[in-house]
Parts: sequence; C-alpha cells; structure tokens
Amino acid sequence: MIIENLVEFASKKFGQNFLKNDVYLHKIIQAMPNDDLRVAEIGPGLGDLTKELVKVRNVTAFEVDKRLCEHLSTEFEEPIKNGNFELRCGDVLERWESGSLLDEPYHLVANLPYYIATNIILKAFKDEHCRSILVMVQKEVAVKFAASVKQKEFSALSVLASSVGKATLCFEVEPEAFVPPPNVTSAVLLIEKNQSHNDEKFEAFLKIAFAQPRKKLSKNLVAVFSKDIVNSIFDKLELDSNLRPHEAGTSIYHHIYNELKDNLDGKQQSRQQKQSKSRAKNSQNR
Ligand code: SAM
Repeated sequence: MIIENLVEFASKKFGQNFLKNDVYLHKIIQAMPNDDLRVAEIGPGLGDLTKELVKVRNVTAFEVDKRLCEHLSTEFEEPIKNGNFELRCGDVLERWESGSLLDEPYHLVANLPYYIATNIILKAFKDEHCRSILVMVQKEVAVKFAASVKQKEFSALSVLASSVGKATLCFEVEPEAFVPPPNVTSAVLLIEKNQSHNDEKFEAFLKIAFAQPRKKLSKNLVAVFSKDIVNSIFDKLELDSNLRPHEAGTSIYHHIYNELKDNLDGKQQSRQQKQSKSRAKNSQNR
C-alpha cells in the first residue's frame, strides 16, 4: 500500500499517531525485559515498531484498522510464513473479554492508542499471562501510574500499579516524533509485574478513596461508608485523620480495603439510590 499523505491517512477515531523516529524506536527495544518471552503488540499501525520487535522476539500483534491489517499482511509476509509474526485483526479489548490475550506468558510492548490506553493497562494488570507492560502513553498518564506515595500525582492508578509490581517512567517523547503529532507530550512507561490484580471491588474502593484528591481521605470514605466504621479503622491502623489520599501508601489502602470490603456493595448501592432519588427530585424542580 502506498500512502501519499500520512496525516490525511491517519484515523483520529483509532488514535493513530505513528512513531517516526529511529532513536525512540531503539530506546523502546533497549528498555524491554531481557528474556525470550513472546511479545504482544497492540496497534502495530504501519509496522515501524513491529519491524524492530520481530528482529529480537516472536510477536503477536493486534490491529483494529482493516486498512492497516491488509498492509501488515503484505509487509510481514516473510515473518508470518516463518512463524515469527502473527497478526490478529480486530478490537483488542474484545479479545480480552474471553480471557488472556495470549495463551502463554508474554510481554506487552506498544505505542498505545491514547483514547483507550488506561483501559488497556488495567486489562493487562488482570491478565495472568502478562509479565510486563512497556508502553508509550500520554505523559500525564505515565506520571500517574509511576508516582510514589506523597507525590501530588500519587493516584488510584499508582496504587494499582504498585499492587502488581514496579512502575517506571523510562523517558519522555516530544510530539514532533510522531506523524501526525499528538497535542500532548508522550512518555514510555514500564511496569514489571510480579503478580496480577483481579479485584474489581478494590478498583471501586480506590475510586471512592481518591474521589476528591485534595480532601482528607477520611472525608472521601465517609461520603460512602459510616463515620463510625471509618473512624474505628483509622484508630485500629493508627492513621492520622488529616491524611490526604496521596499521603497513604499502597499497603494502607489494602488494609483499609480489607476492613471495608464487605460493606462495599451495599454502600455503593445505597449511594446510587440516593443519587438517583436526588436526580429525580431535581428533574421535578426544572
Ligand atoms: N505502533 C504504531 C506506531 O508506533 O507508529 C501505531 C501506533 S498508533 C498510536 C495506535 C495504533 O493502535 C493504531 O494502529 C490503531 O489503529 C491501533 N488501535 C486503535 N484502537 C485499537 C483497538 N481497539 N484494538 C487494536 N488496535 C487498535
């Protein structure tokens, strides 16, 4: 396929910003974990990163855009024949609905489509076959995943990342390295997993804990759980009642969650009922 104008060709809908910079392509390869596990690449696009990946590993790539699937089937005819490269066309999120992305241990390496980048990383946290995640994302997202406790960016995403392993922001990438350039600075993020996390209730609990990040943690929790229970947990764990959400470390969140999780379903339901009652009242008043 001959593409005359890459900017016109790129689909916004699929988050297509093609990485056209050899220095960064090589830096991604150098940052990969040092073993010979298969690589899963999400969104191979025109295949620039894929070309570097197939030189060093066996690769399975997932691409949603049919035009690119056609292009990649021709471009990678040889590695496909050799069994070095496998192309799966379709939405990668649908693949995850039926279990692991691959039926063997793998490393995820990708320049991700930014509109679903966080969602993809959270899916990879839950995928037991996924051993590590090396991805280009919006810098702001990378900072949130890699932040340490007490940094102002420490968030629910940081807690989830440190619950599965270690997150590192490897390097930043300026918009000019892509065609077309995105409106934001990008960064490559590495998450080395030592376990998977598959507890949706823990994610729901963190949403409550970080609902208002600059307020006190106890206040965020009391918005959903009873004040007495929250106070007694803070006493039991000897926590300062003035603690802000970014000042509590990952293990504290796990301790609080273990104390509260049995209350989570009921409390969430009652909060939703309260919200829908107040919405109904408001709409009557309009
Ligand atoms: N890897 C290429 C590169 O570095 O130049 C392209 C990266 S581009 C930022 C994102 C790629 O993800 C595009 O090829 C796009 O079509 C693909 N993509 C977007 N949504 C997808 C989805 N739901 N499932 C699989 N691929 C997707």
